[in-house]
Amino acid sequence: MKTLEKTELGQFTTMKIGGVADKICFPSTIRELIDLIDKLMSKNEPWSLVGGGSNILASSQNIPGTVICTTGLNLIEQLGPDLLIAGAGVRLPRLSAYASKLSLSGMEFFEGIPGTVGGAVVMNAGAHGHSTNQILETVTVLDLKKGKVEVLTLKDIIFGYRISTINPQEQIVLSAKFRMVPDTEAAIRTRMKANNLARRSSQPIKDPSAGCTFKNPIELNMPAGKILDSIGAKNWTIGAAQVSSIHANFIINLGSADSQDVCKLISKMQESTFEKYNILLKPEIKPLGVFKESEAIIWTNADQTTNSSFIITK
Ligand SMILES: Cc1cc2nc3c(=O)[nH]c(=O)nc-3n(C[C@H](O)[C@H](O)[C@H](O)COP(=O)(O)OP(=O)(O)OC[C@H]3O[C@@H](n4cnc5c(N)ncnc54)[C@H](O)[C@@H]3O)c2cc1C
Repeated sequence: MKTLEKTELGQFTTMKIGGVADKICFPSTIRELIDLIDKLMSKNEPWSLVGGGSNILASSQNIPGTVICTTGLNLIEQLGPDLLIAGAGVRLPRLSAYASKLSLSGMEFFEGIPGTVGGAVVMNAGAHGHSTNQILETVTVLDLKKGKVEVLTLKDIIFGYRISTINPQEQIVLSAKFRMVPDTEAAIRTRMKANNLARRSSQPIKDPSAGCTFKNPIELNMPAGKILDSIGAKNWTIGAAQVSSIHANFIINLGSADSQDVCKLISKMQESTFEKYNILLKPEIKPLGVFKESEAIIWTNADQTTNSSFIITK
């Protein structure tokens, strides 16, 4: 198995932030992943899981233990006329391009989302009015509590807005089956192109980021980006972390940002929103690694902050 030692995790996150990890392992088969987890758990060693690293803020401090990166689990197969199976590490744009070539529709919204199948299932990734759960048939997980591989149907998982009941600390997504709808390749491509164009005109896709920083709050009928724009957050800068001038819910890394810069900026965005609207924005971005208590406070009240190596220090 490909293994990197004492390597900066930042190169495997879309925000390009992340300190030196003791080990980063890239299993290329499910067997390798299961054996690795078995070994780490039997020795009680810390570990964490990353897919495309496109929805995490990794700490700039050293990251203890083993980071398991799923991108080697990258097989796609057509199982039936309208059924696809994809490994947890398959990148979403590759999967939607694959489906379009088979004239299968349903994944056009994956275009431009830089995550993997595992991350998309756990986060219930979505865009343009569609979300991952709408096309899922089953999800195969390694259940760490039960110590076995299980196939979950939609009855076994609860999905919400950017959330699911799959907890990466207890269930690792190994693969997912997707139910598709036949259409012409040309029509599918047209929709993918439109999605891409919409993204290009409204998001800072050329800058390193982790996508939307906050979830849209349910208390207010306004997206987090609009709320932040209304308080003048665009271009706020702390260190080398900046609120994008294109989309106020994106924090971009100007080059040398560290996790402290980002935490401070998130804190400022939350405090200013609270002052004006009396609501606490909840981060969509998940923490990985070691954070000071004063930084970790930004995840207080987030719906799901669990991550196996999210450690808080004084
Ligand atoms: C430019 C940009 C645009 C984006 N646009 C969108 C968008 O339109 N819609 C949207 O929903 N998101 C968007 N995102 C956010 C992100 O791409 C999605 O949330 C994506 O689903 C995350 O997948 P990932 O593989 O990168 O997960 P990671 O960031 O690697 O991990 C996220 C969480 O999932 C867990 N996880 C990862 N793989 C597994 C697995 N196999 N089993 C169990 N747990 C796992 C991790 O432990 C972590 O807790 C965007 C991000 C960027 C940078």
